[in-house]
Amino acid sequence: MARRGASTAEPQWRGSAVIHPHADTINNLPRLTRLWRRLTTTTKGPTMIQTNPYAENFTPIVELADGWLACRVCGVATAPTVQHGQDTITSWGREYRGNSPTLQRQAAQEFETTMTRCTTCEERREQAVAVNIEHPTGRGQYLADAIANTAVERALAVAAVAETDLKLTSARRVRLAIRHLTPEALGLVWESRFAPVAEAEAKEDSGAALPWAHVPEERRAEARRAVASYLRALTERPQPITAPTGGGCYLCGVASVEALPSRASRVWAEARVSPSSLGGTSTAHLSVSVCRTCADAAEAYGAYGQSMMARLVLEAAGISRKLGIENVRLDPPAWGVLDIEPNPTPWAHIDLADLREKFESGRIGR
Ligand SMILES: [Zn+2]
Ligand SMILES: [Zn+2]
Repeated sequence: MARRGASTAEPQWRGSAVIHPHADTINNLPRLTRLWRRLTTTTKGPTMIQTNPYAENFTPIVELADGWLACRVCGVATAPTVQHGQDTITSWGREYRGNSPTLQRQAAQEFETTMTRCTTCEERREQAVAVNIEHPTGRGQYLADAIANTAVERALAVAAVAETDLKLTSARRVRLAIRHLTPEALGLVWESRFAPVAEAEAKEDSGAALPWAHVPEERRAEARRAVASYLRALTERPQPITAPTGGGCYLCGVASVEALPSRASRVWAEARVSPSSLGGTSTAHLSVSVCRTCADAAEAYGAYGQSMMARLVLEAAGISRKLGIENVRLDPPAWGVLDIEPNPTPWAHIDLADLREKFESGRIGR
């Protein structure tokens, strides 16, 4: 390209009055742009980073300037003035694939990284704390406050990546969010790149150029899928799930169990039983369907047998422990050893009302 002013057609413009004070700068724009891009991608410190994710030279992970820390949740490089606390994340070592003994030794060493929370993530943490206070039963098994708060915070973080509002306005929503979203946060939150074992390319002095910039598109898609399964679970209603084989639970005989469709696979279990130990005569070993209640009882008792069946029958009849049931020998037959239709309710092939009456009147049990 000919330089401006090099043409003989405009000699009178050269060396005369300046048209624009920055004419040279304007003429040199392409070169300056290149120079600026070089500066923005090589200068240490997030103040100079390229923050347009569509820009040609955008780097999702940047080196931290002095005093800056990565947000442990979204990863964003955070200036000292907007850091909320400091946390030490311990890495038990670093993933290493290769065969250099020196690098392998280095990779096996424990190290610590100081992280913080950015303002957005600090607000999300506070929201998680508030949600747990307002809906204390939503946390389920996570009884400790710190764990419950992290569980909800991580569910909210996954939703943030998927750009969705979970509306955690009930204990049920909290429970479903923890079930469907919290596990997805591993591999998504910045700190999970460091703990328990650091990824090969996770550097202590690095941060994300933008919140979640370190998250690749396929992981964002996984977050969106997790949110979709949470939303599906919110709208589903319990339905009768029928026994996969045999027409009913081999023990209590119940034909179907009410459950959410998404939990259907957990409702029924397969068991190996011998009819002779369940009130029948055959000593063969059969593979049968059992409902979750009976399967859990068998697991607690260690085997499918008369004592666990007696316990289940007494429970189904509403007979409490204090009525002296320890001294009673009760040999209820499993539904499976009888040749009858499946039961509408568990243990309906046993006269539960009569049994209860006998206990309450003291005819048995004391
Ligand atoms: Zn953050
Ligand atoms: Zn059962």
